[in-house]
Amino acid sequence: MFNMLGFRACSGYILLSLLAAVPAPCQTDPVASAGSSELRVFDPTLMDKTVDPCDNFYRYSCNGWFKKNPVPPDQVSYGRFTELFELNRLHLKQILENAATPNPTRSANEQKIGDEYASCMDTATVNKLGVAPLQPELNRIAGLKSTAGLPALLGHLHTVGVDAFFGMTSNQDFADANSVISYYYAGGLGLPERDYYTRSDEKSVQQRKQYLEHVHNMFVLAGEPESDAARDAEVVLAIETRLAKASLTITEQREPKNLNHPTDVATFGKELTHFSMPDYVAEAHAPAAGKINDAEPKFMAEFNSLLADTPIDQIKTYLRWHLIHAYANTSMPEAFEAESWRFYSHVLNGAEKQQERWKRCTTRVDREMGEALGQVYVAKYFPPEEKQRALDMTLAIEQAMGNDIDQLDWMSAETKLKAKAKLHTVMNKVGYPDKWRDYSKLNIVRGDSLGNSERVRQFNFAREMAKIGKPVDKSEWYMSPPTVNAYYDPQQNNVNFPAGYFQPPFFSDKEDDAANYGDMGSTVGHELTHGFDDEGRQFDSAGNLKDWWTKEDEQKFNDRAECMVKQYDAIEAVPGVHLNGKLTLGENLADLGGLWLAWMAWQEKAQAAHVDMASMMNGNTPDQRFWIAYAQQWCTQTRPEQLRTQAQTDPHAPDEYRTNSVLQDLPEFGKSFSCRKTDKMVSKDPCRVW
Ligand SMILES: [Zn+2]
Repeated sequence: MFNMLGFRACSGYILLSLLAAVPAPCQTDPVASAGSSELRVFDPTLMDKTVDPCDNFYRYSCNGWFKKNPVPPDQVSYGRFTELFELNRLHLKQILENAATPNPTRSANEQKIGDEYASCMDTATVNKLGVAPLQPELNRIAGLKSTAGLPALLGHLHTVGVDAFFGMTSNQDFADANSVISYYYAGGLGLPERDYYTRSDEKSVQQRKQYLEHVHNMFVLAGEPESDAARDAEVVLAIETRLAKASLTITEQREPKNLNHPTDVATFGKELTHFSMPDYVAEAHAPAAGKINDAEPKFMAEFNSLLADTPIDQIKTYLRWHLIHAYANTSMPEAFEAESWRFYSHVLNGAEKQQERWKRCTTRVDREMGEALGQVYVAKYFPPEEKQRALDMTLAIEQAMGNDIDQLDWMSAETKLKAKAKLHTVMNKVGYPDKWRDYSKLNIVRGDSLGNSERVRQFNFAREMAKIGKPVDKSEWYMSPPTVNAYYDPQQNNVNFPAGYFQPPFFSDKEDDAANYGDMGSTVGHELTHGFDDEGRQFDSAGNLKDWWTKEDEQKFNDRAECMVKQYDAIEAVPGVHLNGKLTLGENLADLGGLWLAWMAWQEKAQAAHVDMASMMNGNTPDQRFWIAYAQQWCTQTRPEQLRTQAQTDPHAPDEYRTNSVLQDLPEFGKSFSCRKTDKMVSKDPCRVW
């Protein structure tokens, strides 16, 4: 899926939530803390009126929250997203505990999510079984005699979710959004992304040493003698470094053309002279013929030469590591998970304490069977009226975007017409799918945590394979309903807002429009703007990668975008690490454009409703509360280690800049607080695209 995930998502986040798991402060009574009344969209008690709003608006809006919310030991950062995430997780826990109680009246889905949760929580059994449940897979790897046997073995390992060498899934054809084809992509790394293997600064060298130590420790836990484990860790790092060097950087991956290399299975197979494609596709149950996308040909060529000159024992070592790594969390004895947590959450991101088991197991079930769990969740927490309100707001923001396009002074009438045509075909998906995913073919066995995890992965892989060659199902969701996030999909031209996000502190029927539009409205605008950011604008209204811009307009867009690249490149997030203006460009454009659209939509709504713009609430005008609500969604405290990882891997800027840098570019903000031209919160030369 070539998704542009909303706020915190994108690959970096998915990796972190998988290996580190996310947030969690409250260990109080679930029922008591489940009352969301204390989470407000505009909350004056979170502010600090001793700070000048024209000097540092983030501090002005959030200092009170910062004082009350130090980062808990088991978190790498803590913000308002975490508050809601934890609240939703408590709700999910209650649902799962209920479903886990054996009862003949349980529905088929309740049996699956309940038994999966119970198996995950059953550490006595998981510890007692040790490595045994993984032994059949370890034996397969041990039985590999030569590279001739690798394609079949790799085909199998990919079906059970082991990220070795490359990856394969289904995806829409970049050239034809109605057609689903096989998608081969670069993979096989244990560190967060390729530059971790290539950077030469002191910190990066140290992180690679710590990674070696981690791989070594995992091999020892799996039963290897110390000396073998040390040598094997070196082997893993050497192979991964070679793969990393042949991979695109995360910035290069943001350019869709860099990932579009259509070919067919036969031609692709001929280029891989040391790898039998027929053996691979047979075992992966993937199409043996037809069009495919070889996303990174340079990577696949390097993989091919690696097979020619790497001893088979080293390849087996590499596969063994990725197998153990893939199952380390909640399926293997606790020592594996503790070691995995130590490296990925503590060393790389600064967490001080591992999250409690129930949190990890709840997140696991949400990730594995999100629509079975989510169906119960929305029935309880997302009434139809809420869905309607969410939809109404989305339509109002879309209307604002139409007006915005009309008013742009830099775009020609010709391109405007096409931009509006694209806008009018955006599909709005709110809350949860119209048709729930069918899990009937998935077998969940109580007491078999690792086996369940393996079957879930096979089930999901087979689902992807089954899509190839069939019409695209645009009603499918790539996030579960309880997720605190949102995304835009450029290949389907749709915006997706899960039910888990349309909740306080981001949206509430107890708040007025000023607060709701500043907060949730800016999110809706953010996702919509993704359809027109540096990446999204390259797709047409049907989702094809097809240029619809005139040359002059494209140049004008790029010039304006360059202003933002420079603005964010200049920010030093942690000493020695600057933000990457190109990597974060799409998100920064979406932040700025999204907030502007929300502002326009709200101004219109306020005028129609004759809102008294001079009226005060807690000492602030409606205008001011709009901006404060925007800023308060980003109140977040982050550990320095996590901030470094984020600056190096995340296409989203850290929250402080998602607030201050965005507002500096909007003169309307400065007017609301009567800021002077010389104030910090007023840019001398504001950037503006949409
Ligand atoms: Zn985004």
